[in-house]
Amino acid sequence: MDDDQSSIRKDNIFDLVAQNSIDFLINSLDEDEINKKTKYSIINFSAGIELLLKARLIHEHWSLVIIGEPNFQSFKDGNARTLNFKALLPQIKSAIDGKIPHYEKTKNALNKLADHRNKWIHFYHESCFSSTTGVDLDVIIADQFLVWFLIKELIDDEWSNIFHIYRDKIAEIHHQISYHEKYLSIKYDQLKPKINQEIANGAKFTWCSICGHPSFKAIKTERTAFLFHGECLVCHNDDVAIMLDCPGCKYCISLFQGELMDNIFCKGCNSELNVKMAISTEVYDPKEGNHPINCAQCWSHDSVVVHDEGYCCCNCFFDDDDCQECEFCYERVIGDSNLEGSFILGYSFCDGRGVDKD
Ligand SMILES: [Zn+2]
Ligand SMILES: [Zn+2]
Ligand SMILES: [Zn+2]
Ligand SMILES: [Zn+2]
Repeated sequence: MDDDQSSIRKDNIFDLVAQNSIDFLINSLDEDEINKKTKYSIINFSAGIELLLKARLIHEHWSLVIIGEPNFQSFKDGNARTLNFKALLPQIKSAIDGKIPHYEKTKNALNKLADHRNKWIHFYHESCFSSTTGVDLDVIIADQFLVWFLIKELIDDEWSNIFHIYRDKIAEIHHQISYHEKYLSIKYDQLKPKINQEIANGAKFTWCSICGHPSFKAIKTERTAFLFHGECLVCHNDDVAIMLDCPGCKYCISLFQGELMDNIFCKGCNSELNVKMAISTEVYDPKEGNHPINCAQCWSHDSVVVHDEGYCCCNCFFDDDDCQECEFCYERVIGDSNLEGSFILGYSFCDGRGVDKD
């Protein structure tokens, strides 16, 4: 027999799963669905995201989603055990040699989504949901918004040539998330008096890199004075930011991962500012010059600044107490193991002198 079902081939499984994912996502984000059939919006949205992650794995190889001995026949028949939701992103990270820029953040957001989905499947009935209290809707909207934002970034950048044929459908899903944006704006307006009160009491707030509202509450990390971590009170995005006062006008400049360039313009006084120089507290050595400090965590050259007692990479925000120096070129590095023997052998950023030479 060679009917449609039995002719499912390995090379069109990706498309079947991707189309199914898009179908679930489009249905889940409808305004009516969220408000009137909340439970189904959550379940459909989670299913859509789960299938999208599976499609990404299947694009590499269908067996990557299977638990145990892979057997294509049983996979095709829907009888194979496949990875659960929370295991998908770690599998993508370990099995596919690709970048996931906000890995930890994305993993946490997906785990939260999975937990909420499970609660709704097992315990909650539609009648538990009250649109007058708004409590549940708050969590659902923030969850969906954050997960979609992070996944969309992957689809647009790292995975763009895998999902490019679904560009229009992805744009349609993204358009539907505008309802969430409206909702979050209202939430921000409601929170504004509380935020202003906290600012008056000395708390620091800045713009959120996900929802764009000035509702990101930043708390200074212990090691360095300019590195902050925090959470957005509107969309629950947790993030790390570099924050510093413009030397000219004292306007507070905040930069999130991946946004940091060497030179930026202060929004307060429009003057050009070299961020690394503004942060660095390293004393300049006129005899030797200051050798660049590289980051072995994100493979960035000259991205690390010294600040007070610590070192921090301005690209990936990895920070460390100490740095090591290459015995051959005198460049420095954080996040690398022992540099002993680097004169001959070099290290991650340098080949050293080499063994063949005298
Ligand atoms: Zn936010
Ligand atoms: Zn300024
Ligand atoms: Zn780095
Ligand atoms: Zn070297």
